Amino acid sequence: MKLLLHACCADCTLKFIASTPDISPQNFAVYYYNPNIHPRSEYQTRLAAIKKICQENKVKLVVPDWKPSDYFGVVKSPKNSCPHCWQLRLSNSALFAQKNGFTHFSSTLLTSHYQDQAKIIKIAQTISEKYQLTFYQPQKVIRNLKTSGFYKQFFCGCCYSLTERYQAKYSPDKL
Ligand code: SF4
Ligand code: SF4
Repeated sequence: MKLLLHACCADCTLKFIASTPDISPQNFAVYYYNPNIHPRSEYQTRLAAIKKICQENKVKLVVPDWKPSDYFGVVKSPKNSCPHCWQLRLSNSALFAQKNGFTHFSSTLLTSHYQDQAKIIKIAQTISEKYQLTFYQPQKVIRNLKTSGFYKQFFCGCCYSLTERYQAKYSPDKL
């Protein structure tokens, strides 16, 4: 097996690595394709944290260009944005995996408490058929792993989720 892991934050990357002790670092690469992440400073800060995790675990990291136009090309409004966002990031990851000799792909989206796992798996399985890859799911995802020593974000990633977070934090009843 040669696995490409799409990843969008360091915390979930570390949890995913901990959930796959059977895969050696030589057969594993992390792919940081996240045109959804906004603003650029947030993208860079998450990337720095992922770099640290990859270095510490001796896992290769691949970083394609950050192109918000990819995201806004498929997400036109906050309404029902997540499935389009997952589809975009998983498809791009699968395409890269196929072109670069990987046999399997997966995503840290599987480790999140906040994402719709069933929908992500369904989308990923359809993509895996298209690209003739296997969508890898760890037997047991270690979601409660205690992690520290790197940046942890406070919102999902896109401008809509950032606005939502600030609205919740600064709503009049919380001030
Ligand atoms: S879904 Fe959220 S919590 Fe999971 S990897 Fe992406 S940014 Fe991290
Ligand atoms: S909330 Fe998260 S998954 Fe949904 S569109 Fe925004 S970044 Fe993507």
